[in-house]
Amino acid sequence: MGQTIFSKIVAGEIPCDKVFEDEELLAFRDIKPQAPVHILIIPKEPIPTVDDLEDRHQALAGKMMLVAARIAREEGLAEGGYRLIVNCRADGGQEVYHLHLHLMGGRKMSWPPG
Ligand code: 5GP
Repeated sequence: MGQTIFSKIVAGEIPCDKVFEDEELLAFRDIKPQAPVHILIIPKEPIPTVDDLEDRHQALAGKMMLVAARIAREEGLAEGGYRLIVNCRADGGQEVYHLHLHLMGGRKMSWPPG
């Protein structure tokens, strides 16, 4: 698997609208938002899919959820609610093979997503 666009964002080779960063995670606004707030939370480690997570990633995976919830609060989404999505491989609709958690909110989400 070659380098993805998200690895280039992590490396600072491609700009992003950053909302959070620490030593392990980066969060930035989706370039093609599907909701008024659409933020991607990614590990800096280039893990291709959720199926590639290993036991050693347990804390990292949990931190992605906690950071998403924190950003949602900061974006004013917590009270109204929001959606977190991880797409996995072709049938899941994954386009970028660098694990990412979609945080979407600011409008009523439809269900089922289709
Ligand atoms: P996936 O379909 O893989 O779950 O989602 C990939 C997401 O990455 C899409 O929502 C797409 O709009 C977003 N995306 C793709 N390329 C870029 C980029 O260069 N910058 C940003 N900020 N988002 C991107």
